[in-house]
Amino acid sequence: DAKTLSAKLKRIGGQGYGAYKELKGVYQFSEGTLFIDKVQSDPFAPPSLLRLKIPGDLAQIPSHFYNNPSRKVGLENYLAYKASQLAQKFSRKIGTGKGGLIKVHGPGQEILPRTALELDDNGGIELRFFVGLPAAGRRILAKEAQKILLDYLPKLAKALCYPELDHTFLKAFVEINEDADFLRDRLKALGLIAFVADGSILPRASGIDPKPAKNAVPFKAPDSLAVEIDLPNRGRVRGLGIRPGVTLIAGGGFHGKSTLLRALELGIYNHIPGDGRELVVTSPLAVKIRAEDGRKITGVDISPFINNLPLGLDTKSFTTDCASGSTSQAANIMEALELFADVLLIDEDTSATNFMIRDLRMQMLVSKEKEPITPFLDRVRELYEIFGVSSILVIGGCGDYLDVADTVIVMDNYLPKDATIEARNIIQKYPSNRLKEDVPPFKKPNSRYFLPESFPKVSKSPKAKSRDTVLWGKEVIDLSAVEQIVSVDQTRAISLALPLLAEQIKQGKNLLEGLNFIEMTVKTKGLKCLSGMPRGDLAFFRPMELAAALNRLRSLRVKD
Ligand code: ADP
Ligand code: MG
Repeated sequence: DAKTLSAKLKRIGGQGYGAYKELKGVYQFSEGTLFIDKVQSDPFAPPSLLRLKIPGDLAQIPSHFYNNPSRKVGLENYLAYKASQLAQKFSRKIGTGKGGLIKVHGPGQEILPRTALELDDNGGIELRFFVGLPAAGRRILAKEAQKILLDYLPKLAKALCYPELDHTFLKAFVEINEDADFLRDRLKALGLIAFVADGSILPRASGIDPKPAKNAVPFKAPDSLAVEIDLPNRGRVRGLGIRPGVTLIAGGGFHGKSTLLRALELGIYNHIPGDGRELVVTSPLAVKIRAEDGRKITGVDISPFINNLPLGLDTKSFTTDCASGSTSQAANIMEALELFADVLLIDEDTSATNFMIRDLRMQMLVSKEKEPITPFLDRVRELYEIFGVSSILVIGGCGDYLDVADTVIVMDNYLPKDATIEARNIIQKYPSNRLKEDVPPFKKPNSRYFLPESFPKVSKSPKAKSRDTVLWGKEVIDLSAVEQIVSVDQTRAISLALPLLAEQIKQGKNLLEGLNFIEMTVKTKGLKCLSGMPRGDLAFFRPMELAAALNRLRSLRVKD
């Protein structure tokens, strides 16, 4: 119990850091149970792993806050949010290294299943967090450790019990998460691929601050594209409904096109109350596509877009250590289709021009036999009509795209206007006169098989250095262009899933089968099954993003 812990601390005070190992164990407090699972070996090592368990009868949270998966995830995120705020308040730098740190990996702007806090069926709470045990040099600072373990942590436990919670904010988390899930689940039935509610705040405070911008113009759908939907908590909401097909977002520079697309990219996730994008939802299989020159490509069939390369390079199973803008964008699309993406999100700002367009004058100057690239312009209708894959494209600069659009939205001073009819009239009046290019029909890719020797031969798990970077043995995986990862906690979970995926592939499964296996495992056992020891710094990821990490592994080899 608490006395034992206190006595232990007194005993090891002033000793070398290694004596902290004696703290490992389970301690009963009146506020709950403290688990010290792993003690760091020195003050500079990754902080120690701890858990607090608060039984349901102490936590006292009414069951209607967690009686379905959406509400439960909303509640868990609210509690993790509250715990992270409080932990930050208690956290201070003491002595050497990470001493004094108390860290809970709560939500950023997104509500995601995460391992920081888990609720059991009886409303019991398990909080998983990190503590930097304090030392002066390498001498244990027992008094300071006592303050953290026997004062702050019981306070933290108490603060997570129902009477101490902000009931309005808690309700908002739970209800918004339920509404957003409900909305996303119903998109198909409503004949939509995305929805942006009126009143949404889309722009962010800055390029490095994902909080909502102040004084932003609230979103409002034009009548002709407006849809009304009844939500379980919010009731009736009106907003922009984006239908399957090809949707253009046009408009002058700086009028909010990319901001709208970015909100749609992240509409695969739910957002915390006050974010501004709570009711911006996109198909869960929507994938952001961009050019990414320099990336590794392994055995991808990019032939629908790129064929007859100089030197007779094979594009049916294309491998390169350093892709160009257009080949990388083609590979990003084919890899998304390999995993059944149903919406492609493309911004001209991050696209390769020669991948997107080829106008009449270029058709005249360079004949099709001399041009390996079939631009997206010539494939986008086929993708939708034959394969049901929709595209939402930000295009401010090339009117040839008007020919292929089902819907044209023009952003005007941050507000969307329906310009579909106007666009039709313009096409009639000013035809693009592009030549119809003779290209073979688009073929959807098959899932690839990889060689067992593709993977680093190290026993240590890959490590997430940041949101953008995974280290696996000597391999560095660069995820900076994988734009739908929002948190290093997702990258960390992806890192832990990579060896499991590799294991599946070594057993002879293809990429899709391997990903399905991981997805099922995580669904049934929870994210925590990815790590040996329970750790509170993992967050939900899609199979798409796990595949994105594998696809960028430079040692990957395809089976022919
Ligand atoms: P575009 O892609 O059309 O050039 P952006 O989406 O990049 O435009 O937006 C340009 C600027 O306007 C950005 O700084 C963005 O934060 C800001 N912005 C976007 N939407 C809004 C809005 N609704 N209200 C206020 N500012 C906005
Ligand atoms: Mg832009």
